[in-house]
Amino acid sequence: MSYHVNEKGYYGQFGGAFIPEMLYPNVEELRQKYLKVMAEPDFKKEFDQLLKDYVGRPTPLYFATRLSAKYNTKIYLKREDLCHTGAHKINNTIGQILMAKKLKKKRIIAETGAGQHGVATATVCALAGLECIVYMGEIDIARQAPNVARMKMLGAEVRPALSGSRTLKDATNEAIRDWINNPVDTHYIIGSAVGPHPYPDMVARFQSVVSEETKWQLKEVEGRENPDYVVACVGGGSNAAGAYYHYLNEPDVKLIAVEAAGKGIYTGESAATSVLGKEGVIHGSKTLLMQTTDGQITEPYSISAGLDYPGVGPMHAHLYETKRAEFISVTDDEAMTAGLELSQLEGIIPAIETSHALAIFEDKKFKPEDVVVISLSGRGDKDLNTYIDYFKL
Ligand SMILES: *Cc1c(COP(=O)(O)O)cnc(C)c1O
Repeated sequence: MSYHVNEKGYYGQFGGAFIPEMLYPNVEELRQKYLKVMAEPDFKKEFDQLLKDYVGRPTPLYFATRLSAKYNTKIYLKREDLCHTGAHKINNTIGQILMAKKLKKKRIIAETGAGQHGVATATVCALAGLECIVYMGEIDIARQAPNVARMKMLGAEVRPALSGSRTLKDATNEAIRDWINNPVDTHYIIGSAVGPHPYPDMVARFQSVVSEETKWQLKEVEGRENPDYVVACVGGGSNAAGAYYHYLNEPDVKLIAVEAAGKGIYTGESAATSVLGKEGVIHGSKTLLMQTTDGQITEPYSISAGLDYPGVGPMHAHLYETKRAEFISVTDDEAMTAGLELSQLEGIIPAIETSHALAIFEDKKFKPEDVVVISLSGRGDKDLNTYIDYFKL
């Protein structure tokens, strides 16, 4: 069994490209060219150089001494929080901006919810000198003022999505509409391992540098490339895809995916897609999706904006269905507690998304000799106000 995408763009029964006919030429151009472009030596060279000099890679693989002692196992943190702009998202936007330049695009569009992907996109557009338009729900613009300010400072235009619930899915609709109207000169940078084929595969490949580094870094300290477990939080699935990528076909490495249970899986305020989701189409791919009995998308909820997504990418839907990955859901309260714990045991304030991955140690037990690698997907500066309000600091 392969856990990678097949030639038709599917992971098992999930994936594909369910798009309006008017979008077909754009997606098809990308599908035909992305692997060829990524294999070109000068593309690889520029990508690697920017990851090193601009993003700050390789990121450290840090042995968390006090956290390991507390849970009586060996815990390593893959420090994506130390990337430029504070999270793994920049790995993908660097790759896609170079792809856009190779395809001779002049204009970049993106959608954003909390604004993290918008900031990562605005950053690489400034770097490359390309026009940048970020679609964002009107409600999110009001909620995420600091990130809106960052995007503007970086030279991007933030366009409000005024329809529907005025959040992420409406921003996505606006971005797709824009792309249909500007098929020749525009590239759409999607921010997670979601969307029509080839996006999930392309994003996973750009993020795969995470597990590529983990392999040699672990070999240096543990004498073996393979850990016993790789753990990552899953919103759309890009940091998990990167952390798993080179381990997907290594059966001795167990994969753990952590979803947001919000206020509790069955409270109606949750984003635990694997438990609550059914097969459906969102954002151009067939995947697991939270929906009503008549197929309308259910509004997800999580205290962390990055996990507040009603689906998972098709790779993860397949990992769930085949049981290659174990899916665990973690509530707001459990995540917040784990975030405070990492801050005080290790001096690292994690993003609340990441705190979900750190919360599994309360319930799941590991052996003292187990090597557990956690994708520390981002830093918590953006979440300070939420932490402060929650703990009344
Ligand atoms: C966006 C984000 C996530 C969730 O997105 P994935 O595509 O699932 O990785 C997780 N952690 C951080 C820090 C993020 O910014």
